[in-house]
Amino acid sequence: MVTTKSAKIMKKAEEVIPGGVNSPVRAFKAVGGKPVFIDKAKGSKIFDVDGNSYIDYIGSWGPMILGHAEPRVTAALKKAIERGTSYGAPTELEVELAELVIDAFPSMKMVRFVSSGTEATMSAIRLARAYTKRDKVIKFEGCYHGHSDGLLVKAGSGAATFGVPDSPGVPADIAKLTVTAAYNNLASVRKIFEKDPEGVACVIVEGLPGNMGVVPPKTGFLEGLRVLTKQYGALLIMDEVMSGFRLCYGGAQNYYKVNPDLTCLGKVIGGGLPVGAFGGKRKIMQMLSPSGPVYQAGTLSGNPLAMTAGIETLKILKKDGVYEKLFASTAKLCQGIVEIIQDRGAPCQLTNVGSMFTLFFSEKPVKDYKGAAACDFEKFSTYFGRMLKNGIFLPPSQYEAAFMGLAHSKVDIDSTLAAIDKSLKGL
Ligand SMILES: *Cc1c(COP(=O)(O)O)cnc(C)c1O
Repeated sequence: MVTTKSAKIMKKAEEVIPGGVNSPVRAFKAVGGKPVFIDKAKGSKIFDVDGNSYIDYIGSWGPMILGHAEPRVTAALKKAIERGTSYGAPTELEVELAELVIDAFPSMKMVRFVSSGTEATMSAIRLARAYTKRDKVIKFEGCYHGHSDGLLVKAGSGAATFGVPDSPGVPADIAKLTVTAAYNNLASVRKIFEKDPEGVACVIVEGLPGNMGVVPPKTGFLEGLRVLTKQYGALLIMDEVMSGFRLCYGGAQNYYKVNPDLTCLGKVIGGGLPVGAFGGKRKIMQMLSPSGPVYQAGTLSGNPLAMTAGIETLKILKKDGVYEKLFASTAKLCQGIVEIIQDRGAPCQLTNVGSMFTLFFSEKPVKDYKGAAACDFEKFSTYFGRMLKNGIFLPPSQYEAAFMGLAHSKVDIDSTLAAIDKSLKGL
C-alpha cells in the first residue's frame, strides 16, 4: 500500500495543526503508524489521496448511516447551497427537523439545535443545574460526552471518587463537581446519591456506550438510573449523540424503553454536517433563553445546510424496513466474525448492538470501562494495521465502535470477513 502523498501532507499538517489533525483519534497515535488523508468518499467506500480505497467502518464516527454522498442528501444540499449558506435568522427548516426529532423521541417535547455534540451535552447540563438548583453531575467511567471542562473527567478506578480532570487545563474546582460512577453498576450510583442526597443535578449516561467500544447496558441498569434520579430529585440526561437514530428510528431510550428528562443528539441528525441538539420536557426546555433565563446561543446553530442534510437523512431512515435491513447485514458480518474467532481460537470478544460493533482483544466479555481498558492494545494495533492494508478502514482505537451503514453490500461483507480472517492470523 503506497501512502507517500498522505505522508507528505501529514508532514506539512504537523507544522500548522497540532499533531497534524483537528480531532485527536484521527492521528492513529493509539495504533502507531501515520494517518491516511482522505480525498473523497462514496457509498461504503472511502478513498485516500494516494488512490487507495477502503471499505469504511468509521462512517465519520457515526453520522454516515446512509453511506457517503447519498444521492438524495447530496441533491438536497446542492439545492440548499444556492439559497445561501447561513442567515443568522430563523428558517422553517429548523422547525421541520425539530418536528421530525420530537416525533421520534416521545420524551422530547421541545428541542434546540447546536453545532456539535459537545455543545449539546454542555448545554443540557447547564439547564439541568438551573432547573434543579444543584451543581453536581454524575457521569460514568468510560462514557464520553464531548470535551467540555466538566465532562472531561473519568476519575480513578473502581469505586466512585471525586473527579480528577483528564486533561491539564480543566480546573480541579470544576472537575470536583463531576462525580464518576462505574458503568453497569447501580450500587456505585446509589452510593453517590446517599452521600449527597440533595447535591446532584443530573446523571448523564450514553444511550448505548460506544466510546469505550460497544458496551451495552445490563438489563435494568438504565431503568435503575431512572428510578434513582427520580427518588433523589435529579434529572436523567441520555446522551444519544451516537445512539440517536442509530439503534432505531429514535434512540436507545426507545430501544431500551427509558424515559429521560433530557436527551442529547448529534451525529446522524446532521447527516454528515455539523449538528447537535438537546431537548426534553417542555417545563425544563422553556427555561432556555429567550423564553427563560438560562443562556445558550450559537451563530451557526440551526444552519440551513445542516438542517437540510438532517431532514433528508431522517426522511430516508423513517421508511419501513430500513433498520431491519441495516441490522440484518450487520448481523451477517458479525456472525462471520464470530465464526472466524472460533476457528482461529483468537483471544477476541465481539460486541454488537444494532449496527454498532467492537472487536475487543480480550479473553473475557467486556462489560465496563475496566474490561475495555484490560484489552490487549498491541494486538489490536497489529490487527488494525493489517486491516487497513487489506482495504478496511476501522476506527483506529480499541476504545471505539465500528459503524455499519446502509451502503455496505454483501460483497463488502465478504471482503471484510476475508480481511479479518487474514488479519487475525497468529494473534
Ligand atoms: C461524539 C459524541 C459526543 C461529542 O460530539 P461532538 O460532535 O464530537 O462534539 C458526545 N457524546 C457522545 C455519546 C458521542 O458519541
